[in-house]
Amino acid sequence: MKTSIATVSISGEFEEKLSAIARAGFDGIEIFENDFLAFDRSPADVGKMVRDHGLTVSLFQPFRDFEGMPEPFRSRNFDRAERKFDLMAELGTDLMLICSNTSPVSLGGIDRAAADFHALGERAASRGLRVGYEALAWGRHISDHRDAWEIVRRADHASIGLILDSFHTLARKIDVNSIRSIPGDRIFIVQLADAPLIEMDLLYWSRHFRNMPGEGDLAVTAFMQAVAATGYDGFLSLEIFNDQFRGGSPEAISRDGRRSLVYLMDQVKRIEPDIRIPVPAMHARAEVSGIAFVEFAVGDDDGRELESLLTILGFRAAAKHRSKAVTVFRQGEINLIVNREEKGFASASYLVHGANAYAFALMVDDAAGAHARALALGAEDFSQPVALDEMQVPAIRGVGGGIVYFLDEISELARIWDKDFEPINPDDEEGCPNVGLTRIDHLAQTTRYDEMLTWLLFYTSQLATRKTPMVDIIDPSGVVRSQVVETADGRLRITLNGAENRNTLAGHFITETFGSGIQHLAFETDDIFATATALSAKGFKALVISPNYYEDIEARFGLDPALVERMKEAQILYDRDDGGEYFQLYSPTYGEGFFFEIVERRGYAGYGAPNAIFRIAALKRHLRPTGVPK
Ligand code: MG
Ligand code: MG
Repeated sequence: MKTSIATVSISGEFEEKLSAIARAGFDGIEIFENDFLAFDRSPADVGKMVRDHGLTVSLFQPFRDFEGMPEPFRSRNFDRAERKFDLMAELGTDLMLICSNTSPVSLGGIDRAAADFHALGERAASRGLRVGYEALAWGRHISDHRDAWEIVRRADHASIGLILDSFHTLARKIDVNSIRSIPGDRIFIVQLADAPLIEMDLLYWSRHFRNMPGEGDLAVTAFMQAVAATGYDGFLSLEIFNDQFRGGSPEAISRDGRRSLVYLMDQVKRIEPDIRIPVPAMHARAEVSGIAFVEFAVGDDDGRELESLLTILGFRAAAKHRSKAVTVFRQGEINLIVNREEKGFASASYLVHGANAYAFALMVDDAAGAHARALALGAEDFSQPVALDEMQVPAIRGVGGGIVYFLDEISELARIWDKDFEPINPDDEEGCPNVGLTRIDHLAQTTRYDEMLTWLLFYTSQLATRKTPMVDIIDPSGVVRSQVVETADGRLRITLNGAENRNTLAGHFITETFGSGIQHLAFETDDIFATATALSAKGFKALVISPNYYEDIEARFGLDPALVERMKEAQILYDRDDGGEYFQLYSPTYGEGFFFEIVERRGYAGYGAPNAIFRIAALKRHLRPTGVPK
């Protein structure tokens, strides 16, 4: 598979872009003339620079408003095209893109446009060049790839072909199956972009909100299936206009772009196995059955503080590592690991971020396969030296540089708890009552807002998960955007919270801990009231919620006053959706802003987003008690 990306998709100086694109594994670049006019080297130098990076120029986009023009514009356009053909020879590319005319003076008419392209085809052919025609969603006369194809067909020239762009087709909701009847060799290049579903002007949407396939809401996979069915096997080229990407790191955006294409084609190949585009073989997205453990890096003092909090939460020290200062706390299916090692990655993470949940393990169907797929999608491998008889668990770097481990039940890894750990007083289990926590309901990671799409794609491309629409969480000091990655059965739920400013609680967390990471961990219980009673018997102090909240929910949901009274006593929050009810309870923050949540789901599918503002206000009161100046 040959991949390419438009240089306007990423930020940086031209040379910086080239090296980021080459390092991400692309084969080619699309050049917009403006991008290249701003650069002070000759076209021949640019061509050489591109080739020196091991790239080719897949497409040159030098001007618009070509076809169907009256004189004298028509003649001038042909002169212009000739000059751009000269430039293409110097750049070393053979394909020019012309998008459908948007000029108010253009005349329209399929045959007139076809005749112009036939004449242009003659001129291009004499120089060994090709021209592709693309329907812009807002073209004046041509705004549909089916009409563009009709013009190309009637132009009837080997040097004139069609250019498809997923955005233009999908934004106008044109049936993608209309692509299947176009001969693959008449499609000169395919441009790919996704976008979030927002009702707005098509041009504005396209120029500012496009994103990588898989990051938005458009049916890019169905579009690409239809393209692949034509026998097309040329470049897959990203043409992404996104203000955020243009302000982001060229390395990260290029990596996301390449990952999006590998992921897209892997999905297409699984549905349409006979396609001609060669697609790298890899394992299917990993099936996740849960979070096997979460690991905290701590020092001595905050380690003791965390362990006493875990004990109050009903966890019991169940096992310790055979050779390291590492203890496993357990309750129900939940394993929390407290790592006090003074060397290795955990210790480095502690020194940089303070006490933090720096790692978690996913229980997957095939750990080696999941790891290999992650690497094929460009994830960064992680390993560190282990003792001779200790297991090397496959792992990658995740959000904020943290670690994601893969465990399974089909390999040697299934024995990790027996092999690397020894039980602590197993006979004590009876004497150590838990509080009814059964499993990890969700893990919440906080990132910078501009990294959210990166991490959504990271998870959804590797794991058999879906993403929910983005919701805004109103923090008293700003907005935090939240989006969830989850398996269909809810065995894995990760909430990603993107902080736009440091005054929000999430933003504060990033600043205080020097980077993104796991900000809270939610445990499930089957009976939150029994859990709350057991917790308070152990001395647990829940986060105090404003009494006004309870007045409001009683009226809002028409709840039984006795139930509301019980919730108020235990600081339990409430929400409801079409599926059922949700009860939540929070711990105060620990360390630099980490906290625990306890939830009971009675058929409810969400995460209590409407309650977040009350929780955030309560956490802020807790961080800054009344009377202490701001
Ligand atoms: Mg395009
Ligand atoms: Mg939560």
